[in-house]
Amino acid sequence: MRSLLLLSLFCCTSLLPAQEYFQQEVDYDISVSLNDRTHELLGQLTLGYTNNSPDQLTRIPFHVWPNAFSSTTTAFAKQKLRNGDTEFYFDDSDNWGELDGLNFTVDGNPARHQADASHPDIVYLTLPEPLAPGGTITIRTPFRVDVPNSYSRLGHVGESYQVTQWYPKPAVYDTDGWHAMPYLDQGEFYSEFGSFKVAITLPENYVVGATGILEEASEREWLLEKAATNRKNLVTRAVTVGTGEEPFPASSASTKTITFTAERVHDFAWFADKRFKVLHDTLQLAGAPEPINVWSMYTETEAALWARSTEYLKRAVRFYSDKVGTYPYPQVTGVQSALSAGGGMEYPMITVIGLSYSARSLDEVLTHEVGHNWFYGILGSNERDSPWMDEGLNSYYEGRYMDTYYEKEQTNVPFIGSLDLGRTGYRYLARQGRDQAPNTNADSLSQWNYWIQAYSKPAMALSELEAFVGADKVDAAMRKYYRQWRFKHPQPDDFFRVMEAELGSEISPWLADAMLTTKTSDWKVNSVRNGQINLAHSGDRPAPATAQIELGDGTKLARTQVPGEIPEKQADGGEGTKATLPEAANPLDLYAHNNASGTRKPVFRFGIGTGDAEKLPLFALPLLGYNIHDGFQAGVALHNRTLLPQPFEWMIAPLYGFSSGEVNGFGGARYRLLRPFSGVRQVMLSAGTQRWSDFTLARTDEAYGYARTAAKVEFYFDNPPITERKTKAFIQGIYLNKNRPAFARIDTVTQIVGTRDEANLFIRLGFESRTEREINPFAYALTLEYKNRDDGQSEAFEASHLRLDGTVEGAFQYEAGNFFRYRVFCAYFIQNELRDRAFYPESALSLVDNADSDYRRDGLYLGRNVNPDQNDWADQQLGRRQGGFRAPISSQFPAFKSNNYMVATNLDVDLPFGKLPIPLGVFLDAGYYGFRALSSDPATGRFSWVGGASLTLLDNRVGVFLPLVADPDTRNLLDQRGGLLSGLSVRLQLDGWLPWKWVDGIL
Ligand SMILES: [Zn+2]
Repeated sequence: MRSLLLLSLFCCTSLLPAQEYFQQEVDYDISVSLNDRTHELLGQLTLGYTNNSPDQLTRIPFHVWPNAFSSTTTAFAKQKLRNGDTEFYFDDSDNWGELDGLNFTVDGNPARHQADASHPDIVYLTLPEPLAPGGTITIRTPFRVDVPNSYSRLGHVGESYQVTQWYPKPAVYDTDGWHAMPYLDQGEFYSEFGSFKVAITLPENYVVGATGILEEASEREWLLEKAATNRKNLVTRAVTVGTGEEPFPASSASTKTITFTAERVHDFAWFADKRFKVLHDTLQLAGAPEPINVWSMYTETEAALWARSTEYLKRAVRFYSDKVGTYPYPQVTGVQSALSAGGGMEYPMITVIGLSYSARSLDEVLTHEVGHNWFYGILGSNERDSPWMDEGLNSYYEGRYMDTYYEKEQTNVPFIGSLDLGRTGYRYLARQGRDQAPNTNADSLSQWNYWIQAYSKPAMALSELEAFVGADKVDAAMRKYYRQWRFKHPQPDDFFRVMEAELGSEISPWLADAMLTTKTSDWKVNSVRNGQINLAHSGDRPAPATAQIELGDGTKLARTQVPGEIPEKQADGGEGTKATLPEAANPLDLYAHNNASGTRKPVFRFGIGTGDAEKLPLFALPLLGYNIHDGFQAGVALHNRTLLPQPFEWMIAPLYGFSSGEVNGFGGARYRLLRPFSGVRQVMLSAGTQRWSDFTLARTDEAYGYARTAAKVEFYFDNPPITERKTKAFIQGIYLNKNRPAFARIDTVTQIVGTRDEANLFIRLGFESRTEREINPFAYALTLEYKNRDDGQSEAFEASHLRLDGTVEGAFQYEAGNFFRYRVFCAYFIQNELRDRAFYPESALSLVDNADSDYRRDGLYLGRNVNPDQNDWADQQLGRRQGGFRAPISSQFPAFKSNNYMVATNLDVDLPFGKLPIPLGVFLDAGYYGFRALSSDPATGRFSWVGGASLTLLDNRVGVFLPLVADPDTRNLLDQRGGLLSGLSVRLQLDGWLPWKWVDGIL
């Protein structure tokens, strides 16, 4: 992406020689007034900027992040779309926001500024005179912020204001140069430390929570009175979560100006709401000079949950002070307000929390955000480039806090079971080669990777470390890191250096590998013999194992081992010694099925399950089916597929057909190779077979079926996770054997004399590309197919072919949720023995995609080889392969077929009814193809078209289509079917809905 390239240009000044650590200083004096009718801020910035670098500065990049909300082409807007959120894109631009009115002076002299060419939320201030090392300048500018609706962090909901990332702010200058960055929703910040004095003018009845100390005694008294009244009411009020929108009281006619000051912070945020209830408490930390003021502010919405908020805040501050380092600020505030980026957001001394839904979750989110005062606020790392340094380290301590004060809570997913979300997410991505390194720029992480790599994996890596050295040592090392780097900008190496110095050099390769790479580690319990425990390591990350050992006499002990280490002989455990690698102590262990000694007992359960631990997974899902030849079918799918991908997966699903009396079904297995060679993320080897009935002889009512056996090798290319384009190539072989009645003339009467096989072999090569974009998704596919001759069949069926198919499809979302869709299909027989014949076998090109044109038996259809007198409704199930023509013309008619070439298009428009629940649309299909009515006729190009109304669901996979207009021939064939409704067609695109295909595509 372009924005990434630019970012790396800003960041990569690696030509500079390695330099001594330095840090710039910024001292802000801002006055701002809020107009709550126009939702505007009018501000005046005075900034003292001290250049502590050894370099002379000629310009300073400023972040003017409200401009992220000024158009659909900003980095923020593009990322929102990439992450599947179209709310901002389609919203009325009146609700967007911006920052303007800049007019800089530097030490009183006018100074020019220029917006960045790609990012309107970055401007460059050209200094009238270069700023020498050690020099200080005063920069002044007015600014106006049009506060946007709440799309991310800065915003307002009615007269409730979340004023964050709001003032012109210089980018960080460090030994790597300038770090100018556009505002992002997924991706945080990097800011210079300094002091703030912010004077806010607004109507008198607003309650304001902010970074810093409130200077006005009268305002403080007013808040304490509110807090006292609220505290009294807390006792008597029923503890129920408020529902509905609490109205805003009218704003006072008179205004007030309140001032906040803060030292040694790198950001300033404030939240203003006339409805805020207030709670106040104090907290005296051991070793702190004065008690800390603890404030919480919240609306009626979750008032019952917030009743205990100051307790949570105090407990969190105490916990982090104890584990990491004493809280250095005079106050801490928690605010419940609108937030459209995650559950909570941290600012120095103040955190904002959205809806929590439960007291536990409120405590957890408050603690997490308060914890950011340490990992972000005090330890001011570059969150954009190394998101794990704030989120990951903080999540580790948040997890420890939750383990201290709450019972372990596992997430229960219906039919899957309980699972640890972080660990499951990590394994899910890593086992498919889809994980990214935690130390990846936040804008280059896919949405799921951001969650796993910034938060979960680093926290798990610290838990792994904790299992190896003990929690006390981890905390002691972290306190050292805190003391050494507080109020500074630590980089990843600075963190690793402290950890290594404190905990020993043997930890560095695997701790750093966890944060900086996608290397994996897997341990297994190889064997336990005579009390000797043998563990084996595989993978490229040399992480330790922490084993839980139970000796024969019941003694329990823990043992750690690093790869390559030959362990000393264990105490003779004797008979019955057992060893396991508990998941909590080995959280980054890639596979858990090999983590216990002894034989795994099979576990049989309903659904798909996680089934990853000591048990051998065997899952069952009941299946029901129907087709016109087998009738209703019932059966069961047995499989070993868990939510997490396994290297080897299998499924067998027998179904009994009640009409045919046949045992049908499908079965298959697949094997996954991860990153086998460069450029390929995953190779999937799969093979499977299926059998269904597809023909009923009217005379005897006997059903005949087909067996289809296929093998496939798929190459999933290594597309970077944030490129929406995914590509794959495949080679496939299909052997299709149709069992049919054999006839012979005996005594002038044609009689059934048994069965015969019609068998075909297909070899297919294909390439597919899908670009999954929110506004204009696009895909194409190319397939080359060889079909062999089969000498066991009638002359026509024997024909071989070599066929090239190409499909292009895409869409354009022209308004929220409504699309224009297009598809173009082209196919040509490079070789076809029937090219000059007017005989059209199943494998001829077909404008209509129905059960009979599904000549390889790829799809699932309710009826094939339909008897038009009995089941002609079954012809109305159409697919969207080949010509995709939506007129249910039976294969009885040779119309719409070609042995030569075909070009077809399918167009769909959702009707612009906004968000009406009925997804109505119109469609138009057209095709041009080489056709011969009789073998003796010359080949002619034929054009057919049909248009009508549609009702579609699930991205057009399921739909009902009613033809209303068509060319005369098509009209004629439709009329032969009967009335208007018999022209209806139904699309049930069922292929790809098998459980494991579905499960692979969840994240
Ligand atoms: Zn966080």
